[in-house]
Amino acid sequence: MNRKRTRGPSPAKPPVSVVTGGAGFLGSHLVDLLLARGHHVVALDNLVTGSVDNIAHHAGDPNFRFVKQDVTEFLFLAGPVDFVWHFASPASPIDYLELPIQTLKVGSLGTHKALGLAKHKGARFLLASTSEVYGDPLVHPQREDYWGNVNPIGPRGCYDEAKRFAEAMTMAYHNEHGLETRIIRIFNTYGPRMRLNDGRVVPSFIGSALRHQPVTVYGDGSQTRSFCYCSDLVEGAYRLMMSDEHLPVNIGNPTELTVLEFARSVIRATGSRSRIVFRPLPQDDPKQRRPDTSRAERLLGWRPQVPLEQGLERTIAWFRPAAPASGRATNKRKAAAGMSKT
Ligand code: UDP
Repeated sequence: MNRKRTRGPSPAKPPVSVVTGGAGFLGSHLVDLLLARGHHVVALDNLVTGSVDNIAHHAGDPNFRFVKQDVTEFLFLAGPVDFVWHFASPASPIDYLELPIQTLKVGSLGTHKALGLAKHKGARFLLASTSEVYGDPLVHPQREDYWGNVNPIGPRGCYDEAKRFAEAMTMAYHNEHGLETRIIRIFNTYGPRMRLNDGRVVPSFIGSALRHQPVTVYGDGSQTRSFCYCSDLVEGAYRLMMSDEHLPVNIGNPTELTVLEFARSVIRATGSRSRIVFRPLPQDDPKQRRPDTSRAERLLGWRPQVPLEQGLERTIAWFRPAAPASGRATNKRKAAAGMSKT
């Protein structure tokens, strides 16, 4: 069999998917969806920001395999592969501030290795890119044909430029090797399995609110974001992979709100006594962000199904046991909850 040609999923054999970052927040939700849709799944993760807890429920499933591996190193996998989903990367501003070189490496070397695996296996490749390629956008809402406003040497440069490089590399494999490639630009996404201490606004606000501690808004809170629930996001990724579209597609929830409004929503939804406190806005924090999702709607028939209220409810329920409302938090919990930040 000519392994250089892209294999479509054969009706006789279940498709084989490789998910890099498969033990991460989004990677693990994607693993769930792929297994539910009959794929054999190999999850690769070096567990720097991912956790086996996110995939432990698949232990013993003969259709699932976990390989602890850094995707920047040579990837060897025996047997056929139909789809490579490249989701590995630190993704929260705090994580990539702490791990700037690893972030650059996974976006550049890691994308190269994942593309190399896809080429070798004749698999279709999907890159998890990001709204950060638009930087602090001067065009609003963001359409895929906007080239962005990125500071390459600022604190977000390691992530933004790694993902921009990853997009360029993906297009190069498409153009030079004829690889079937897909690029999803992921806007702010939330849900169960985010780490309480990952620093992103959703776990940060929920963690503080559940403990009735001050909710810390950066700047005056007038900056905007649009929050997509994780199940909507992975559905969009799946539809894109199965489509014919090789150019980037935004996936995100177009309902935009200010960070201050979001803080109030979280306090309301948790029934918290927390007050809101303000801290300086981090450098290069985008002032506005909202996806134009018309391409996703037109090409994939995709639009988000889970309204913020419902998604928040599910996420809060998941976080509640990890952030007890009363009693003294242990030191470990304090560290996990990022309390030093508030
Ligand atoms: N933010 C905040 N308080 C926090 C964490 C984040 O006000 O404890 C703000 C942050 O400055 C940004 C927005 O919330 O304007 C979203 O931040 P996040 O880190 O989730 O991701 P970003 O969209 O900036 O990549």
